[in-house]
Amino acid sequence: MKNIVISGYYGQLNTGDEAILRVLVDKLKEYERESNSSLNIVVLSSRPELTSKIYNVESVNRKKIPSVIKAIKRCDIFISGGGSLFQNETSNRSLYYYLFQIFLAKLFGKKVFIFSQGIGPIKRWYNIFLFKHVIKLADYITVRDYDSFDFLHKLKINKKIELSADPAFLLNPCCEQKIQKLLEEYKIDFSKKTIGIVVRKWKKEKDMTDKIAKIADILIESEGYNVVFIPFQGKWDIIKINEIVSKMKNKPYVLSEKLSPHELLGIFKKLDLVVGMRLHALVFAAKMGVRFIGISYDPKIDSFLKIYGFKPAGYVDSFDENNVLISIQYMLYDGKVTKKIDEITKNMTQKAEKAFEILREALNNIKKKDSINILGVRIDCVNFKKAKEKCLEFLNSSSPHVVFTPNVEMIMLAQKDEKFKKILNSSDLNVPDGIGVVWASKYFGEKLYERVTGFDLMMALMPELERQQKRVFLLGAKPSVAEKAKENLLKIFKNLSICGTHHGYFSQEENEKVIELINSSKADVVFVAMGMKRQEEWIYKNKKKLNCKLIMGVGGSLDVLSGEVKRAPKIFQKLGLEWFYRLITQPWRFKRMLALPKFIFVVLKTKLFGGR
Ligand code: UDP
Repeated sequence: MKNIVISGYYGQLNTGDEAILRVLVDKLKEYERESNSSLNIVVLSSRPELTSKIYNVESVNRKKIPSVIKAIKRCDIFISGGGSLFQNETSNRSLYYYLFQIFLAKLFGKKVFIFSQGIGPIKRWYNIFLFKHVIKLADYITVRDYDSFDFLHKLKINKKIELSADPAFLLNPCCEQKIQKLLEEYKIDFSKKTIGIVVRKWKKEKDMTDKIAKIADILIESEGYNVVFIPFQGKWDIIKINEIVSKMKNKPYVLSEKLSPHELLGIFKKLDLVVGMRLHALVFAAKMGVRFIGISYDPKIDSFLKIYGFKPAGYVDSFDENNVLISIQYMLYDGKVTKKIDEITKNMTQKAEKAFEILREALNNIKKKDSINILGVRIDCVNFKKAKEKCLEFLNSSSPHVVFTPNVEMIMLAQKDEKFKKILNSSDLNVPDGIGVVWASKYFGEKLYERVTGFDLMMALMPELERQQKRVFLLGAKPSVAEKAKENLLKIFKNLSICGTHHGYFSQEENEKVIELINSSKADVVFVAMGMKRQEEWIYKNKKKLNCKLIMGVGGSLDVLSGEVKRAPKIFQKLGLEWFYRLITQPWRFKRMLALPKFIFVVLKTKLFGGR
């Protein structure tokens, strides 16, 4: 599994930055599918929970420095992704912060990719000096415009720098049906010309609010156009838009601040022209072949307009309303301009794609194992999230897949029992169950960072099983325990379909009956909780007879679910001391637990003297 950290201005719901992240994540997932490799994507975000939900990735709070350090330390490649991260127009702090991340990643020996960024403006010589010396540590650099390219060349950074384009050029709009549905809400009459306006608050804006209000009024009154204000950064833009609207005589349309980049892109398609202050408003217009004019607040706007052969219709602190109105009319009635926009956009799309080609190459160059062999037992290099994803994939496959959860005891048992070892290695997924396995991994070719216990994995699957209405069978434990576990599960997951239960103390003669019971219940998933060895042997022997999609050995999980046995408190789990809690609460397991010191001894012996 290759670990990737993506850093950027994410979580603030800025449409431009989120569009970049969307493309990055989608492209990485595409790479994962095509190369059949496993990627763990961690995004540094100011709202990690939201980011994690939107993109289905891991996310870490970018303000929590220890968590950021931990994420960077664990990664294989650090992507400083998109936008204009290296500038001190907004503040020195953000420049130092992003440079610090790169420095840190290099300190930990990670690959660093500066991904399709706009560089500058950077003020003051010492900031430029600092920037130059940190940025040249990067392994790959792509920039999104010529001015950034030129800036780096002038700094004499002796690295291959690829002139790319904004990743948002690769974003696709949402489907036509969705666009129609969204626009129905606003009841915009598209038989009239429709002008989209994207504004932002800016410190040197002077009387911009009044001027935009005047322009919008003239467009509505004198020209008979529709004016649609489009927020690109949530409530921040809405505040500015409301200020403008309050100064207008006419009522323009104002889109919701909750639209996703895909949705906004879809809506852009319907516009005749976009007046944009924000860079990504111009990128979105260009991408959709829509005419655009820019009012500049930052050199990045000038750089972008230059690519299309345009100049800003004015600067935020000094633009003239009449000039903007003339530019709008000129643009609207220039018959050749959309062809020109389309042609340049085609080229920009290719350039944006080029950066991803380099990224794919960079990922190919990272050699990581998909699984490791710990004392003869295969352990798949998955973290919790990946393990869950794989189980969900199995659920939608056509044949039964087996998941085992090898822990130290199982691995030690396999040392004496070749058949058991063979059984363990026959599974479709072996997750590292327990801190001992995680600890040992670093001696066997790839350091794992997270244990994946059978119980936690099983519980993490439940909400999805409930949502997908998959049928669950609980097999194992003493009579009535599975029923009690079912009851308790249904208290948490009310719509979960538990199609059957059976205890785990049945004879060989009764086996066929149990199989029949499971098959007739039409179970999609069978959780087998008959204790280590017995459950793996049972699964191995019977998996071909079962018609389900996922069979998982879950040890004593039904005892825990039924309330028969208590799991270690969270603090013990976090410290990797669940075994110790078990030892004090279930002292009769002492003999089994001797496996741990024996395991440590064998692992260290193997490391020192080789042999496996
Ligand atoms: N068990 C079972 N059938 C058997 C032996 C054991 O169903 O023939 C059950 C037992 O009742 C308990 C679970 O398997 O619920 C074993 O729990 P333990 O915590 O020992 O799991 P392990 O650590 O072995 O995975």
